[in-house]
Parts: sequence; structure tokens; C-alpha cells
Amino acid sequence: MSFSDSIREIYKKDLENIRRSGIYKDERIICSPQSSEIEVEFPYGSEQKKVINMCANNYLGLSSHPEVIEAARNGLDHRGYGMSSVRFICGTQDIHKQLEDRLTEFLGTEDTILFPSCMDANAGVFEAVLTPEDVMIADRLVHASIVDGMRLCKAQTDNFKHSNMEHLEQKLQFHQKARIRLIITDGAFSMDGDLAKLDKIVELAEKYDAMVFVDESHSSGFIGKTGRGTHEHFGVLGKIDIITTTLGKALGGASGGCVSGRKEIVEMCRQKARPYLFSNTIPPVVVSGANKVLEIISRTTERRDKLEKNTVFWRKGLTEAGFIIKEGETPIVPVMLFNAKLSQDIAAMLYEDGIYAVGFFFPVVPKGQARIRTQLSAAHEMHHLEKALDAFIKAGKKFGILHKTKQEIIEQYGL
Ligand SMILES: *Cc1c(COP(=O)(O)O)cnc(C)c1O
Repeated sequence: MSFSDSIREIYKKDLENIRRSGIYKDERIICSPQSSEIEVEFPYGSEQKKVINMCANNYLGLSSHPEVIEAARNGLDHRGYGMSSVRFICGTQDIHKQLEDRLTEFLGTEDTILFPSCMDANAGVFEAVLTPEDVMIADRLVHASIVDGMRLCKAQTDNFKHSNMEHLEQKLQFHQKARIRLIITDGAFSMDGDLAKLDKIVELAEKYDAMVFVDESHSSGFIGKTGRGTHEHFGVLGKIDIITTTLGKALGGASGGCVSGRKEIVEMCRQKARPYLFSNTIPPVVVSGANKVLEIISRTTERRDKLEKNTVFWRKGLTEAGFIIKEGETPIVPVMLFNAKLSQDIAAMLYEDGIYAVGFFFPVVPKGQARIRTQLSAAHEMHHLEKALDAFIKAGKKFGILHKTKQEIIEQYGL
């Protein structure tokens, strides 16, 4: 027997420890397309129930948009189901090139290369363009996939305190001898919903001769006047050397990612990035859908504008009701509860009332910073948000946390 009882015991113990520490992850089962209202079965096998979804990355409401589905169907009909190849052998169709061109145009860069996912883009890009003579200086809160990509790269690593420009400047000064300095940040940070100070970062990059890398996964399609991203918002369009982003969030929500930026960087990725060279090409059906998404959001800012309106309503509603939220302007709105169990209890009560939102606590967020992260979508109508707000207020009253300070909530519930 290869999987012997003693080996099984090891994993049983590990899993038991994960459960005991309260971080065991369960999947909630959805039996409908992704949307502002979904049918769920939770726990699996129980009766189905309709809930309002407040935690998808479906920012523009394009995940199940009829035009996108129609385009995907066309892709399936005219370009087939799968490519059975990586890009550089026989996995590149005309629609893949079209999508790369559209992304370049939309992001305001020089060139773009698709990856199977943004996780793969981040895993491949650093190793492809940096050597041990270079240094990567990353914000301490960058996404896990960036951390992994940095691990795979032999350049030196360093970091700066979250969004702390003085600290970043010190690090840039310290590393003036390196061949290349690469500043690394997320555009919008997924847990707090805050934006990187890209204008300042670009200024520092110019002053200390550094390159700038920004992961725009939680920005592409809706941050900035025309939704191009954080760089548009801060007026530094064309000044970001490397952008990575995902097609798995606002841009249709299926899958895929890219590296977009200086054409030499993209060319290096085509030669050397391992997830591009060694993993299968994005299927035609997804590429066709994504092409349509880019066409829709380049045609009109209607969805991005509606998302902004929904965001303003939601942030104002929660604040006036007496919740503590993380200030900001993104559609990522964390409702701060501090205590882990409280975040779970409120999420459970919301679910009872037909609102799907998830409590996050350590180690997903720092200890004592438990929260329910809500995310807005252009697919939300006012009646969805009003119902969700009512449910939040009902829960807030029941648990006695409205119009309380952080200190008062902590005194009541502990950390
Ligand atoms: C979601 C996310 C990713 C991963 O994107 P996938 O395309 O799903 O692999 C990478 N970076 C950031 C910042 C993200 O939020």
C-alpha cells in the first residue's frame, strides 16, 4: 500500500489543525450563472436559495452578459474548443493576436502578451526580465501571486512599508548600485480597496532610474475616467513599464491574464516566460468572449459609471448606518468588525437574510482586522443594494455595533 495508514495520519492531523485554527475553507455551491443574484446550495446538497451576491469580482457585470456569451459561442463555432498547444508551437490564432492588440490599446501600452492566468503572468514575468544583478522592491501587501513570481526570480528582493513613499525612496537610494531597480505594487489592493500612489511612485522611479510594475487585476476596466486602470486615475498612462492584469475579474470573469508594457519587456516574455512557453494557450471560446468585453468597454463607459454610482451609494449607506468601513473610492468596501468570530456570525446572519458576503480574518488579513469584504458590481440594481443595506443594518443592530468606535467594538467582542 503506497498511501499507508501512517502517511494518511500525517495529513489527517494537518487537516485537523487547519480546522481547529478556524481557517478551514469550504466551497459554497452556486447553481446558476454568476450574477448579482445567484442560486446557492450551502451546505452542498441542501435546498437551493436565491441570494444577492456581494462578493464577486464581477465589477462590470459582464460575466454573464448576453453579448459576451454570444461572442464566446461564435468563437466556439468558428475557432473550435481547444488548441492542444502552447502559443509558440501551434497555439496562436488570429483572435489571440486581436485580443493582445485590444489590450495594448486599452491599457495604453506598447505591447501585450497573454498568459493562461494573471497568476501565471506574475509567475513568469520577473524571471524573464531580471537577473541577479537587479533588485525587486515590492510593497509589503502585494498579491500572493507576485510573491510567488518573485520567489522564482533570482534578482535580489526587498520591500517597502505599504504605500509608504519615504520608505520606498530609502530603498531606492540603498539599491542605486543594482543594474535595474524594479518597483512592484498592486494598483488596487484587494483586501483594503485602497489604491497605490502611482503618481508618486512614477516620480520616484524617474528620480532614481527605476522601472515600475503594477498588477491591475482589481482595477482594469473600471478605475480611472474610462476604466483603463490606476495609471489612468493618477494621470500616468504610458508611464508604467510593466502592467499585469487578469481577464478573470472585471474583464468577463472567465480566465486568462497578460503582461502589457514596454515592447522589449513583452518580447523577453515571449522568449523566456515559462508559463507562456510551457502551459496551454487560452481557449478560443474565452478569447472571443474577452475580445467582446474589450469592445464593449471601449465603446462606452456606461458600466464603469454605474459601478461608480453603486459604490458611492453603498459607501455612503454603510457609513451613515454607523458601520466602520475602509475609506476609499474603489468598489472594494471592507466592513470592519475586528473580531474573527463576529465577522463569521454576521456573515451567517446576512446569508440567512439572502445576502452572500464572506468574512475574512487572520491569516487572510492581519490579526485583529477581521472584516466582511463587500464588492460592488454594475450588475447590482438599486433594489439589490437597498435590500443588502437593510440586512446589514439589521445585523449591525442585533450585534450592537452601529455607531460604535473601533475601541468599543473590540471591548465588546475582544480581538
Ligand atoms: C486575482 C488576482 C490575480 C490572479 O489572477 P488570475 O487570473 O485569477 O490568476 C493576480 N493578482 C492580483 C492582484 C489579483 O487580485
